[in-house]
Amino acid sequence: MAATIGGSATRVGDGVWLIDLGFQGQSEVVAAYLVADGDAVTLVETGPSSTLPALLAGIAAAGFAPESLTTLLVTHIHLDHAGAAGPLVRRFPHLTVRVHPVGAPHLADPAKLVASATRIYGDRMDALWGEVAPIPVDRVLPLADGEAIAIGGRSLTALFTPGHASHHVVYADRDAGAVFTGDAGGVRMPGTAYTCPPTPPPDLDPDAWAASIARLRTLDARRFYLTHFGPFDDPAAHLDQLLPNLDEFRTLAEDATAGGADQPELTRRLHDLMATRLGDAPPAALDKLEWATPSYMAALWLTRLLSKTAGGRR
Ligand SMILES: [Zn+2]
Repeated sequence: MAATIGGSATRVGDGVWLIDLGFQGQSEVVAAYLVADGDAVTLVETGPSSTLPALLAGIAAAGFAPESLTTLLVTHIHLDHAGAAGPLVRRFPHLTVRVHPVGAPHLADPAKLVASATRIYGDRMDALWGEVAPIPVDRVLPLADGEAIAIGGRSLTALFTPGHASHHVVYADRDAGAVFTGDAGGVRMPGTAYTCPPTPPPDLDPDAWAASIARLRTLDARRFYLTHFGPFDDPAAHLDQLLPNLDEFRTLAEDATAGGADQPELTRRLHDLMATRLGDAPPAALDKLEWATPSYMAALWLTRLLSKTAGGRR
């Protein structure tokens, strides 16, 4: 896919555009999708506030006025998926934001979300994500599992898919055989075969994720739209990798920890593993993968997970 950095829109399906948000000057790291039918214009994901200008430019590039947006659908509240929702609603107060009921209070009052993200990203919070703004409670509409969301004459179905986060939702376009997978379908760079599990602390739940992957399989989709990054037309083979690759992270972390590796060393080994699994993909693919799901974040989660397991055994 030809993508310029920031604000490009590529038509990827009937009434579906991929907007490359040019996150941190990188193409093919964070996407938002615009889904439209007639006057109904919806975004699936907003990206972070730091890429809001690119989002607005991308909406225009797709041929729509940003004021014509009616609804924001977010897969979960992590800042790379929903961070721009607050500033968007402030600018366009008629918008409603649809989110899992567990995520809804954190969009209305993001203090805990910001605290949790700050534990991962430290003093890079603002550079990475930009503003995090509260959304008026009456503009946040919690979803029901299985709810059909009408976009003009078309319909997306919200399906609760916990695991990556307890409040994760995917949106299935059953008529098109496509699913907007958020992070539940993993991270994969265009032109590569490696499906990488994004593993942020604290509330990742591998067992719940396994059940959600089983649920994704039952949809028999022909296409996944990944937030990181783009469309993939081999959903079954793509999903086959996800849990084994999560186990591979865990096994690596167990071995590294048993051998006395500290967190920087664990991070380095996870980075090397990702490089190995990308095989002969261009080096830029590894950089983009690190932007989308950093090895230091995986090391943080794995360290927590293993110390919890050790605590449980005591
Ligand atoms: Zn996430």
